[in-house]
Amino acid sequence: MKRLVVLGGGESGVGTAILGKQKGYDVFVSDKGKIKEKYKQVLKHFEVDWEEEQHTEAKILNADVVMKSPGIPDTVPLVLKLTKDSIPVISEIEFASQYTDATILGITGSNGKTTTTMLLHHLLKDGGCNVGMAGNIGDSYAKMVAAQNYDFYVLEISSFQLDGIVDFKPHIAILTNITPDHLDRYNYKFENYIASKFRIVKNQTKEDYLIYDADDEVITNWIKNNPIQSQLIPFSIEKELEEGAYIKEDKIIIKTQNTTMEMMKDTLALEGNHNLKNTMAASTAAKLIQIRKATIRNSVQNFQGAPHRLEKVLKIHHVEYINDSKATNVNATYYALESMKTPTVWIVGGVDKGNNYKDLMPLVREKVKAIICLGEDNSKIVDAFGNVADLMVETYSMSEAVKIAYKVAERGDTVLLSPACASFDLFKNYEDRGDQFKNAVKNL
Ligand code: ADP
Repeated sequence: MKRLVVLGGGESGVGTAILGKQKGYDVFVSDKGKIKEKYKQVLKHFEVDWEEEQHTEAKILNADVVMKSPGIPDTVPLVLKLTKDSIPVISEIEFASQYTDATILGITGSNGKTTTTMLLHHLLKDGGCNVGMAGNIGDSYAKMVAAQNYDFYVLEISSFQLDGIVDFKPHIAILTNITPDHLDRYNYKFENYIASKFRIVKNQTKEDYLIYDADDEVITNWIKNNPIQSQLIPFSIEKELEEGAYIKEDKIIIKTQNTTMEMMKDTLALEGNHNLKNTMAASTAAKLIQIRKATIRNSVQNFQGAPHRLEKVLKIHHVEYINDSKATNVNATYYALESMKTPTVWIVGGVDKGNNYKDLMPLVREKVKAIICLGEDNSKIVDAFGNVADLMVETYSMSEAVKIAYKVAERGDTVLLSPACASFDLFKNYEDRGDQFKNAVKNL
């Protein structure tokens, strides 16, 4: 019996354990931290052996294969030891993909993964496909492979998952964009992070597709300088293309496989140029797998966006409140500010991951009438924008920030929470931050 050791007892770890058990492995789950009660119950139910708050090497170094959860860096001593002993250390998507014949559509990029994944899943469902959605979103992919029999999987894939692949091959890959992120896990080298994202095409052949943002120079430069087998399908909002998706006047044009479809740009459910790109990417993928044009057109019109991403909360006294708590880096906030159509009261701040705010300056000058800093340490925001907006206030709790925004905003304005920072100083995570924002707005 082959031994599968799973490092990390979270969603992907427990899912992998279930699938491993089903496929006849001797499975052991080891977590350096505490395992959540609900996961312990599942492990018990499937009769999987586990430990927490320790890694017992004698029970780990005898593995035939190790699935490492994405949160664990490659540099921890245990993983180094495994690698030294030539024990394969793989990710959940690698392990689970061995046990399904489904067509895989994989989405990666620095921003827009969740939105594009949800939209593509929605398009395929509307098109009548038997499709599951997994990866960094919702339920574990491995668990789905164990329990379901889908024909298609739409997977949201992080660079950490891609670091642990060997044979994983999506039939359609989408690369939304690449901007510096998670550099602490990549030796502070942007090129390592870029290479990691491009692992999504590693096993693709000429029967497979890579859909990518042709306006993103990081992506186009890499493609120029590295061999790729996949058929390249670009999308652009800046230029017309011979093949792929682009904008002409007020229409989206998608040209693939010698056929063309058109959609009116202003009928899309999601707003902002970033979402236009996400919609173009997802629609192109749907078209490649032969979803009907009319279905695609309808489906992008009735899609309900994901929470915490430019999510409209309420209108109070003609002021719109928008929750973009998921904007944890400058690039995401850039697109949020760009999509603002009225004077904006901007709530920003949190844990700064080495942000450079320079790119935001023109948009802040143009759109922002007041800045409300919300973080334990607001000094970088104050330094960057102190003399740009007419009004700047420092706050230290969400309810305080929202109350001040309410006082400052006038009829016709928008109050936007788009922090450009991580949330761990004052909140549990970005969902908690967004939920607190929504509650504070509802209590006004
Ligand atoms: P991810 O899963 O990659 O983090 P999300 O869809 O959750 O992406 O969006 C994260 C943040 O980035 C949100 O604030 C969202 O408004 C913004 N965003 C979404 N799509 C894009 C894009 N294509 N380019 C830049 N920012 C985007």
